[in-house]
Amino acid sequence: MKIIEGYKLVHRNNYTEYCDNLNVKIIDVQGIKIGSNKPVIIAGPCAVETYEQTIEIAKAVKKCGGHMLRGGAFKPRTSPYEFQGLGREGLEILKQAKNITGLPIVTEVLDPRFVDMIYEYADVFQIGSRNMYNVPLLKEVAKTKKPVILKRAMSAGLQEWLCLAEYIALEGNMNIILCERGIRTFPCKEYSRNTLDLNIIYPLRESTFLPIIVDPSHATGASKMVSSASLAALQYNIDGLLIEVIQEDDSPDKILCDGFQGIRPSVLEQMIKNINKSI
Ligand code: PEP
Ligand code: MN
Repeated sequence: MKIIEGYKLVHRNNYTEYCDNLNVKIIDVQGIKIGSNKPVIIAGPCAVETYEQTIEIAKAVKKCGGHMLRGGAFKPRTSPYEFQGLGREGLEILKQAKNITGLPIVTEVLDPRFVDMIYEYADVFQIGSRNMYNVPLLKEVAKTKKPVILKRAMSAGLQEWLCLAEYIALEGNMNIILCERGIRTFPCKEYSRNTLDLNIIYPLRESTFLPIIVDPSHATGASKMVSSASLAALQYNIDGLLIEVIQEDDSPDKILCDGFQGIRPSVLEQMIKNINKSI
């Protein structure tokens, strides 16, 4: 049989096996259901920078009604001179944040050699944009059977994205969450970091039963746009949001990673209130 799309396990035609609701496979992370009717809010710092920063943000996420804590201990940075993350120390901080708040942890894995280490701390692995095509990493992460957020590469089309998700599925891990995080188009960096491609949501829904979330922080690169981008994305019936948060009193230029796109807890609180009103 010719596989026209290049993927079949994650193809919508294969949905009957996996779907219990609205043709989306529900992925359960410690009782939090991604793919049910209610959008899941995953929020936290771009990078774990200090204990105080992470715990303050984690507590704020919990208080606002967020469902999971995000935070990178290993950061994919363009320049080797930029902050690369705290590594294991960052994972330990995330563990403490989880102990204090109960929020499940979403954290990025960059390197197949660190999958076992991160497995001990993460409830959901994040595979970043720059690693969407990293098949050895996808396979290694998939083998653990833990849920995986697969972020869309900056220039990936729908077919490519689902073909790479298929590598994870082929290892026997169907716990895949797709995350649209903006693509590179000509206005990039002129007024926004990337272009939020909401157009992909409908065809993606038609093509796969995997849950779809949106990251308005990297998609815009500007904190002032995050609320509107999130509400717009929710109009497309997405399954969740991945949002970067900074401390209430921190100045964005002092933050080592992505300070200018992080929203403050007070903004997150208002946003979650608006979301809850609209659903
Ligand atoms: C992140 O989530 O902090 C990140 C690095 O995202 P992306 O891979 O989408 O650039
Ligand atoms: Mn970031």
